Amino acid sequence: MQLLADVRRVLGSVADRALDLALPAACAGCGREGPALCVECAPAFDIRLAAEPGVPIGLPADIPAPLLQLEWCAPFTGTTRRALHALKYDGERRIAPYVAGAVARRWARAGAGGDVLVPVPASPDRVRDRGYDQAALIAVEAGRRLRLPVLSAIDRTRATTAQFDLDRGERASNLDGAFRVSELARPELGGRWIVLVDDVVTTGATLAACAAALLDAGAAAVSAIAGARER
Ligand SMILES: [Zn+2]
Repeated sequence: MQLLADVRRVLGSVADRALDLALPAACAGCGREGPALCVECAPAFDIRLAAEPGVPIGLPADIPAPLLQLEWCAPFTGTTRRALHALKYDGERRIAPYVAGAVARRWARAGAGGDVLVPVPASPDRVRDRGYDQAALIAVEAGRRLRLPVLSAIDRTRATTAQFDLDRGERASNLDGAFRVSELARPELGGRWIVLVDDVVTTGATLAACAAALLDAGAAAVSAIAGARER
C-alpha cells in the first residue's frame, strides 16, 4: 500500500539515529537525563487504561457527531502536556512511540471495533517545519501494535486557526471544508470502520470534521482515539 509506505518513510531509521545524536537525552516530562520519557513519567499516558469505556463522571457526555466513539489515554495536563508539547513543537519525535503504546493499549481495551487507523493530518506548513506529522507517527506505531492497517487518507485543504483561539461559531466555520479524503485512499475506505488517531483532542471538532469527510467518502463508521484530552 503506497500510502502506508509514505507514512513509514517519515519513520526512517537513519533520521532517528541522527536525531539521537543531535538532541541531549532527557525526559520530556521531568528533565531527568535518560530516555525521552523516564520510567516514572511514561505511565502518565496509561492513567485511564483501566477506566471504563465511555465518559467519566463529571465530564459532558456529548461525543461530537458523527463520531461513534471517542477515547483518550490521559488528561492533557502536567507530564502528558509537556511530553506532547515536546513532540509537537520541539522536534522530540522520540515521544511518539510512548504515546502510540498507550493509544494501542487503551484501544485494545476500550475500542468497540475498527478496521483501519487514519491519522488526523497536521497542516502541511507545520509538517514542513517539523519534518514529521506527529499524529502519523503515533498512528503507524499504534497500528503495528494493534495489527491494524494505517492509511494516510485525509488531506488538509488549507491551514486552520487553532480551535482554542476561536469562539463556538468561528470554530464551526474554521473547519468547513478543511479536510478532504485523498482520491488514492477512497477505494480503501468503502464499508470500513475507521479509527481516527490524534495526539490531543480539545473540542473534538477537528475529529468530527474528519469523520464527516470519511463518511462522505464511503466509510461505514468512524471512531477516534487521542493520546490526551484537554478540558
Ligand atoms: Zn521523567
